[in-house]
Amino acid sequence: MYWNSRLRILDVWVDPVNMQQALDRVEFFLKRGRRPHSVFAVNPEKNFSVPKDPMLHETFKRADLLIPDGIGVVLAARMLHGVEIARVPGVELMERICELAANRGSRIFLYGAREEVNRKAANVLSRRYPGLRIAGRANGYVKAEEMPKLVDRINRSRADILFLGLGSPRQERWFLSQKDSLDHVRVCQGIGGTLDVIAGNVRRAPNFWRSHGAEWFYRLISEPMRIRRQRVLPLFVLNVLASKLKTLVWDAQGQQDEGLFGGRGAAQFHEDCAHIPGISQS
Ligand code: UDP
Repeated sequence: MYWNSRLRILDVWVDPVNMQQALDRVEFFLKRGRRPHSVFAVNPEKNFSVPKDPMLHETFKRADLLIPDGIGVVLAARMLHGVEIARVPGVELMERICELAANRGSRIFLYGAREEVNRKAANVLSRRYPGLRIAGRANGYVKAEEMPKLVDRINRSRADILFLGLGSPRQERWFLSQKDSLDHVRVCQGIGGTLDVIAGNVRRAPNFWRSHGAEWFYRLISEPMRIRRQRVLPLFVLNVLASKLKTLVWDAQGQQDEGLFGGRGAAQFHEDCAHIPGISQS
């Protein structure tokens, strides 16, 4: 019951899972699931983009798996909840899911990125994971009027796993609008720009940067245009510090229970979570 331990980080949530636990959960969805299960990545930018749309915010809150993709979220979990978690980068989870799919014969569908990137990523993946069954692929620039056809293609491909590489929050919005039309997909991972990385068009930070929690900074200096999205990072840090300060003040007043859960108390928080689809309802 991972959602019982789901952590609230300001206006978003994260599951305190490591890579293996995330993968085990994906395997569970594949084996036992009867509907599309959403796997979304959580990073500080999402704290500002997702809550703008109440429906999207609710979809995010109810996601089946929210992975700690960004270092900011990992540090915030430590500071606000005293929970030590490690990053589960979306790109690495996708690679592990492909490995899993190749081993168990699951079919994947790649939707997103520019046509040549999508095609190249599909070639790289099938070379890298012998036996991987790529049931279909589509670039991420399908027009709204063509969407029913695409959904039909995804269904007819009988893909078990759908990777959505449309960028955020476009991909989460797509999931929200189409999830009820997907009749075979069991796992749907939002992968942002991962197809660009797999196709070799965008380089991930070298290990040194990753292990020092500075992948975001490497990305910023290699793609300075991202400054527009990453300018919210200082605001995120300030909000986390303010939230921590609030907790300390409440603690001092003997109201510790309320501080960590947005002023509603732990019991209320868990009650609120009771409707989130858990493993038992998969
Ligand atoms: N993209 C897409 N359709 C669109 C807009 C964007 O498929 O209508 C793709 C784009 O080609 C890129 C990805 O979405 O591959 C966005 O990458 P980015 O790194 O910005 O996403 P993030 O991981 O930061 O969410």
